[in-house]
Amino acid sequence: MTTRTVLVINSGSSSIKYQLVDPDSGDSLASGIVERIGDSIGAITHKHAGQKIELDEPVPDHGYGLAEVLRLFEEHGPSLADAHIVAVGHRVVQGGRYFSGPALIDDEVVAKIDELVPLGPLHNPAHLKGIEVARKLLSDVPHVAVFDTAFFQDLPEEAARYGLNREIADKYSIRRYGAHGTSHQFVSQAISERLGRDDLKQIVLHLGNGASVSAVVNGKAVETSMGLTPLEGLIMGGRTGDIDPAAVFHLARVAGMSIDEIDHLFNRESGMKGLTGESDMREVWKLIDAGDKQARESMDIYLHRLTKYVGAYTAVMGGLDALTFTAGIGENDKGVREGLCERLAYLGIKIDPDKDPMRISEPTTISTEDSAVVVTVYPTNEELAIARQALTLI
Ligand code: ADP
Repeated sequence: MTTRTVLVINSGSSSIKYQLVDPDSGDSLASGIVERIGDSIGAITHKHAGQKIELDEPVPDHGYGLAEVLRLFEEHGPSLADAHIVAVGHRVVQGGRYFSGPALIDDEVVAKIDELVPLGPLHNPAHLKGIEVARKLLSDVPHVAVFDTAFFQDLPEEAARYGLNREIADKYSIRRYGAHGTSHQFVSQAISERLGRDDLKQIVLHLGNGASVSAVVNGKAVETSMGLTPLEGLIMGGRTGDIDPAAVFHLARVAGMSIDEIDHLFNRESGMKGLTGESDMREVWKLIDAGDKQARESMDIYLHRLTKYVGAYTAVMGGLDALTFTAGIGENDKGVREGLCERLAYLGIKIDPDKDPMRISEPTTISTEDSAVVVTVYPTNEELAIARQALTLI
């Protein structure tokens, strides 16, 4: 019996994802998405108790979209009046230097999220819209902002500061903020609990369409691959990850590309998509299986980048106890897991192929007993993590 729930909201520029979570059992009681807000025709999908309700109707703005969601809850369940909602948790991508943990939303917190828009231009304005309408429609419960950057807010200065001119960097708040922090924190804490140790040197690989890696020592993040924005680091579905910034000058001068064009190229038309034509790893594997040499080479580029990061972070921490895979690729792609772990054999990492099926939906140790590093596949659950973080303030 559910005694309390948290409604988790992830508001994007043209979408609102939501989930009603029981923070104690971890169960998801309902979830859904409002899409194409502002388009001539929008879509709402609401899932509850095995049924899926789909609506196609214009959703002029976020306020209308959320009001429709609340109506769907009343019409198809679960009734929010009986759900004992104790908080609404809002995912916020950019918390800058202000937030090292969740924050109870008041006008001051809203003002700070707004102030951080230049550092999160794609996300923070959309979160603010979601927060505004949710605070109006669900005015009798506390609202909490949970920041993607919070886990990395205390990164050691040597990891967070770029070798950029100090005055300019400080004036324009240019430093490494990281992202996916909610997932890295959730997974690294879960591994500590699973292994019964809080003195661990861990690397967490969050490999989804967006991808990042973090190094965590005794529960504290000491490195992460995403930087000022989620462009830095690993090769991703559509993003370059690390690239010499002089490529920007070169493309501007030689190819005559504008800053917006280069932004689009680096963030959307690169990574696996730009290398193979496909951003989804399943499609990349199909190409490889069909004998596509470029796709094989692209997979090796992807794995090479991962290998470099794991090596670098092991060096930064002076060792490695636990390596963990999570998110879409981390949880579902044995080829990537095996390809990386083969390259990491020098660290004493040994995988038992029998323990590693293609898709893993439960936390699973895939390393052998005598592996020098415990390798785990741990499904991330950002909604549950947001719900639990929100509760810490209630
Ligand atoms: P994001 O949240 O960043 O959009 P996800 O964590 O949902 O990303 O991961 C999406 C990616 O996971 C897909 O692009 C795909 O490459 C990969 N993926 C999902 N399922 C599988 C699978 N069964 N096998 C291989 N890759 C998968």
